[in-house]
Amino acid sequence: MELLIDDLLKTVSDGELLRIAEKIVEGERIEEEEALYLFRSGELPAIGHLAELINRRKNGMNAYFIVNRQINPTNVCVYQCDFCAFGVKRSDPRAYEMSLEDILKKVEETYRAGGREVHMVGGIPAHWGYERYVEIVRKIKENFPEVVVKAWTAIEIHHMAKISKKSYEEVLKELKEAGLEALPGGGAEIFSERARKIIAPNKANAEEYLEVHRTAHRLGIPTNATMLYGHVETYEERVEHLSKLREIQDETGGFQVFIPLAYWPQGTRLGGRRTSSVDDLKTIAISRIFLDNFDHIKAYWVTLGEKVAQIALNFGADDLDGTIEEEKIVHSAGTKSAYGHSVEKLVKLIKKAGKVPVERDTFYRVVRVYN
Ligand code: SF4
Repeated sequence: MELLIDDLLKTVSDGELLRIAEKIVEGERIEEEEALYLFRSGELPAIGHLAELINRRKNGMNAYFIVNRQINPTNVCVYQCDFCAFGVKRSDPRAYEMSLEDILKKVEETYRAGGREVHMVGGIPAHWGYERYVEIVRKIKENFPEVVVKAWTAIEIHHMAKISKKSYEEVLKELKEAGLEALPGGGAEIFSERARKIIAPNKANAEEYLEVHRTAHRLGIPTNATMLYGHVETYEERVEHLSKLREIQDETGGFQVFIPLAYWPQGTRLGGRRTSSVDDLKTIAISRIFLDNFDHIKAYWVTLGEKVAQIALNFGADDLDGTIEEEKIVHSAGTKSAYGHSVEKLVKLIKKAGKVPVERDTFYRVVRVYN
């Protein structure tokens, strides 16, 4: 399908938006103040079309998904971030901890069903020792060598470094030796110190998050990046967040994908409101435009809902995440999306968006194209 950018832009009467649009069409990088202008603009169709233009230059008509499983070994968490409804105290009746056997059983189910990635993140219990994190990775890899272990957020890595008195580099090297192949992007939340103090004052700060990712990239471990939006942050703070990621990506090239995560307030101490679909689509589109050095932008169906995620595939996103099987974190905060989806369902969602469904592995290598 041809994108009629020129025709669309003829309908835009805003001169500044037209100037920014010309830069985007020419493939030029936009500045922070220009991204901010887009966030404040009401011209969502034009912004979406521009983002989709960039996406098609990078990914053609492909829209990716993966057959994977999320495992959250525990919801016990020492940090108690105010925006999070998942992490609870050890004494809470909802608290759980999976044994190594429980974890391996889940991985086996996924492996037998054709899944080749485990995405593993969780709460951070004060009573867990460093070795436990390494051992979980090692045992999964020993038992299922074909399964890619994408595990532990930068917050968890920071915590491991703290309790083991090791550097990020030492921790990441040991995890890599045990079988870790990629890091998920969780824990970034919003980099602004002001907003972070309100929503997550206790855990690793922005610099620490970014340093973990930089170190992983240096060690040849690719990582994902996220941004939690729709709570107390301003548009300026969203742009500042994107800008920091773009800077590191210029330096290392180690980020695989950017995932904007819409905030869900139910059951959190922070409270607040759910983001609007307009905000969700605009954030996806501006991320696609601004992060010109990222190959992929994910429309995470769990936080966006299946419908908006599907629409986002024409607003600059090229990836829906995966089958997941058992999402717990966003469901604790009230999302109404499913806990997991079949391959057939994801293929159908993508085809209905007019895109070509492509099953990928963790590293965006093509596994199967569903023409
Ligand atoms: S966001 Fe992560 S670190 Fe914070 S309370 Fe939830 S599980 Fe713990």
